[in-house]
Amino acid sequence: MLNSSLQQLGSALRARKISSVELTQLYLDRIAKLNPQLNAYITLNPETSLAQARAADVRIAADSAEALTGIPFAQKDIFCAQGWLTTCGSKMLHNFVSPYDAHVISQFNDAGAINLGKTNMDEFAMGSSNETSHYGTVKNPWDTARVPGGSSGGTAAAVAARLCAAATGTDTGGSIRQPAALCGISGLKPTYGVVSRYGMIAFASSLDQAGPMGRSAEDLALMMNVMAGFDERDSTSLQRDKEDYTRDLNKPLTGLRIGLPKEFFAEGMGADVAKAVEAAIAEYKKLGATIVEISLPNSKLSVPVYYVLAPAEASSNLSRFDGVRYGYRAPEYSDLADMYEKSRAQGFGAEVKRRIMIGTYVLSHGYYDAYYLQAQKIRRLIAQDFIEAYKQCDVIMGPTSPSTAFKLGEKGDDPVQMYLSDIYTIAVNLAGLPGMSIPCGFGANNMPVGLQIIGNYFDEARMLNVAHQYQLATDWHSRAPHGL
Ligand code: GLN
Repeated sequence: MLNSSLQQLGSALRARKISSVELTQLYLDRIAKLNPQLNAYITLNPETSLAQARAADVRIAADSAEALTGIPFAQKDIFCAQGWLTTCGSKMLHNFVSPYDAHVISQFNDAGAINLGKTNMDEFAMGSSNETSHYGTVKNPWDTARVPGGSSGGTAAAVAARLCAAATGTDTGGSIRQPAALCGISGLKPTYGVVSRYGMIAFASSLDQAGPMGRSAEDLALMMNVMAGFDERDSTSLQRDKEDYTRDLNKPLTGLRIGLPKEFFAEGMGADVAKAVEAAIAEYKKLGATIVEISLPNSKLSVPVYYVLAPAEASSNLSRFDGVRYGYRAPEYSDLADMYEKSRAQGFGAEVKRRIMIGTYVLSHGYYDAYYLQAQKIRRLIAQDFIEAYKQCDVIMGPTSPSTAFKLGEKGDDPVQMYLSDIYTIAVNLAGLPGMSIPCGFGANNMPVGLQIIGNYFDEARMLNVAHQYQLATDWHSRAPHGL
């Protein structure tokens, strides 16, 4: 059961081979056993999950089940879920029980899916290792001395360790793809605007996008069918017809043009990562694809541009956490200003404070033109590079992360080193494009390597096809961490 695809789980449920209550209990027992070691979940509500499972069983009995009805999923703790503690990995929200559902959560609920629990994450989704969480670090299931990646590290660890069937993540600069790569699972960041941000706690609103994380491209496609769709409560949600993301899974890849950006294959990438990525490209050639060398000349500026724009937006978004409306309030203060200051000083962790300070600085009078406006202009150039590249190719491939999972604490006191973890993923967010990561082998210390597939706008169905065909021909995605 634990290795079954979503399609197989759905069929087993509808054929009454297992009930949703039994399946949910199976995962809850496994979580009780393994979560103390991995710390992938922040919040569990077994009673609520089982009540949802009972309702799903009623729906299955009435023959009104949908594809995901009765299947247990985990939700990143950035999504507001009614009645659930929703912390965003921060002490600031340590006591925030959401009174409403995010759009993503209500889509899963409407589909009859089970919410198994809320997964650990970097504080306010700022990080690449899950070490900034107020709730402690998450351990990589392949080697518990190593990080799972971030910020969706709890989700990635939970999926890899079979502590849920699949789960959600969010990606502002790489937070779905990089932890997927480091934990040996598949993850997709959709085109900006395809999945509603309503009820998803905001980090950098012009970059944030929710997406599915699971063990195969086929699973991601089924989740996209539930997650994607127009929502008028998010002003950047795109009004498009509902798509069936599974529709192209079985198309052959003959004639597919894969663009390889020469900048991605220059210095910086670990030799072990390069070897696995090159082997994956060779496999694609066998599947009928042709290779085109492309150039993304401005992508080298994506990390500095991101670290101007994302903190700028974060400094504005996080101003709502002031100790008045919700969340943490300092126990002692002299007046209102002191209450704001102390609540924020005590409620936010170091990385969040660093981002707020950078953001406030680049938006301040005198620096706005020099930093923020310049960064916006370069952002446009970065997007333009991709638009040019897609005249010559159908998808772009490269590594997801320059290295495999590093040791806990290894990059803790060097923020710039940590920021470079996203060197291959950030340009995709700046351009608003869809990107995914799939497992393509193992590198140093037998840790998983991720292959990044970047698509053109709204080309998720094709990317899923490209990933699925590879997963039919190889078995990296079905390997599981040993000893769990
Ligand atoms: N690691 C990047 C950061 O720290 C991206 C995080 C994300 O995508 N949420 O901002």
